[in-house]
Amino acid sequence: MLTVLVVGILLLSLCSAALFLWRCKRALDKIAQTAKLISGGALGERVSIRTEKEAGEIARSFNAMAESLETTIRRLENEKREADAVLGAMAEQVFAVDFSGKILFLNPAAEKIFGVSNSTAVGRNFLEIVRHAKISQLIQATLTEGLERKESISLNLGSERFFDARASILREQENRRGVLVVLHDVTEIRKLEQVRRDFVANVSHELRTPLTSIQGFAETLLSGALSDSKHQREFVETIHKQSVQLSGLVNDLLDLSALESGQKTEFVSVPLSDLLKEVCSLLSPLAKSRGIEMSAIGFDDSLSLHGNRDQLKQVFLNLLENAIKFNRPNGSVHIRLVPDASTITIAIQDSGTGIPQKDIPRIFERFYRVDKARSRELGGTGLGLAIVKHIVEKHYGSIRVESKENQGATFFLTFPH
Ligand code: ADP
Repeated sequence: MLTVLVVGILLLSLCSAALFLWRCKRALDKIAQTAKLISGGALGERVSIRTEKEAGEIARSFNAMAESLETTIRRLENEKREADAVLGAMAEQVFAVDFSGKILFLNPAAEKIFGVSNSTAVGRNFLEIVRHAKISQLIQATLTEGLERKESISLNLGSERFFDARASILREQENRRGVLVVLHDVTEIRKLEQVRRDFVANVSHELRTPLTSIQGFAETLLSGALSDSKHQREFVETIHKQSVQLSGLVNDLLDLSALESGQKTEFVSVPLSDLLKEVCSLLSPLAKSRGIEMSAIGFDDSLSLHGNRDQLKQVFLNLLENAIKFNRPNGSVHIRLVPDASTITIAIQDSGTGIPQKDIPRIFERFYRVDKARSRELGGTGLGLAIVKHIVEKHYGSIRVESKENQGATFFLTFPH
């Protein structure tokens, strides 16, 4: 009897132990299965705790670990997306090379200048990808020295372009992993600096010419010519003419600097025919003195431009004055207004010297003159057309010229209306 009891108890214990082990195994199988799903990318998978009482603690810990893993992975994914977006949007070329010289990544701007995609470049030696000796030398030197380097380099990318290149050490925790290179294109800045330098040189030169003349004639007068009644008047007239030239230059420079300062000017409706009539009457003494006949076609009181009256007046004064100045004696100047649905074109045609074909593209540059001596003689500063173009563009308009040498010139101004 006792034996039967012992055997019964033993069997019962064995059964409950087997049941316990079976449940634990089932729970562990579930955990293993879930771990597999998570590692396969299903970050949201969890073990159901309710059913597995015995392995509840393990399942809870597993789920907590999966939760924190999911949060970390999601954060890292977001950070990577943000970093990719920043690198992708950067105008600068950015790329990295590891210490064995293998490309780690290129951003789209770098892909463009090296003519290779990130996926093709990654893992290849930078010497195969970066075919610009200056950049290769910079990377090599940084890899060898292990110190940040900055250099100004120029690359031939169809046209010559200038870059500020910076190579810095790429770190992974405390270890050096490679070199990060950033190229910043400074070609436009360089060009602007050159334009500024040329401008200062031109201004100094333009100021020096009349000043030297004024000084020379004043000294001649002081050193005795004051009593020379024959030349006195001639010298003073020259001084006067040069000082007029000087003040014209200073006024043009002030106008140009006001236009470039980006100051907002108030735009109003400007009756066009009215404005042109006023400019023509201001210039009629000059036209008369050279026997130039001025005529107009298409003047219509209903036509108006949206803009700044003073600036538009300056445009027409400059263009019409040039049309008279660079004309032949007894020549003509025609003004034509041609409106269409959305624009008004004003054509100013003269019968003068015209502009040689090769000079036309440069005519709106500051201080550019086809014939320097003639322009000075006529009191020009070489800034008139530069000012005109600036104003026209401020009014959302455009200007172009058609001309043949000795066959006159026609300036076409088109404005929206
Ligand atoms: P300028 O003070 O010399 O008139 P502008 O900037 O007004 O300077 O003009 C630049 C140059 O363009 C002039 O020096 C002249 O050579 C040429 N030019 C301008 N308008 C005419 C024109 N209507 N006919 C011939 N040449 C012109």
